[in-house]
Amino acid sequence: MRLVFMGPPGAGKGTQAKAVAKRYDIPHVSSGDIFRAEIAGETDLGKQIKQYLDTGALVPDEITVRAVVDRLQADDCQGGWLLDGFPRTEPQARALDEALEANNEQLNAVVNLAVGAEVIVRRMSGRRVCPTCGRTYHVERIPPKVEGKCDACGAELIIRDDDKPETVRQRLGTYERATAPLIDYYDQRGLLLRVDGSGTPDEVRRRIFEQLDSEVQDG
Ligand SMILES: [Zn+2]
Repeated sequence: MRLVFMGPPGAGKGTQAKAVAKRYDIPHVSSGDIFRAEIAGETDLGKQIKQYLDTGALVPDEITVRAVVDRLQADDCQGGWLLDGFPRTEPQARALDEALEANNEQLNAVVNLAVGAEVIVRRMSGRRVCPTCGRTYHVERIPPKVEGKCDACGAELIIRDDDKPETVRQRLGTYERATAPLIDYYDQRGLLLRVDGSGTPDEVRRRIFEQLDSEVQDG
């Protein structure tokens, strides 16, 4: 099974992607991991990637696509794979399709975790972090024993700037604008599986498995 996994920041994509990879016994391939491996291996590609990352620049599509396609040729990917964090743009999706076609391969499905903006804002804005020891909490899911205080060291918990509602909304807007063409692209090719990403991680996981299991049965 060859899968692409998509979802907005805060949708729990990473957790679900790992569970899916485990269920179908395919490697969980993320662009971040690929970059880190290329850099650690000091490959030519890795050296180029490092230069971009060190200067805070985005790694250009051409290099990203090459690194991902290389990774998908590895032995552990012969029975399929799950791509997480790539493609992010329509040109990247086209490049991936072309590379697969050249090997007589194709994607089986693109899972798009759909979670409403306000659900994500609520999840993220409940996060609290201890500025002293780094422990993390959530006011609903993992509350500290004493409201507003770290269990471990007693420090006053804070909300990170990244978790503030206005920041979360802004990031979601950016994500939506960037990925809308990508979602259309896969929808037009009949590959898009929309999965309701609201509810608990267990509920979401069951929904994803249900849809993918029927995908596997249909061939
Ligand atoms: Zn603490």
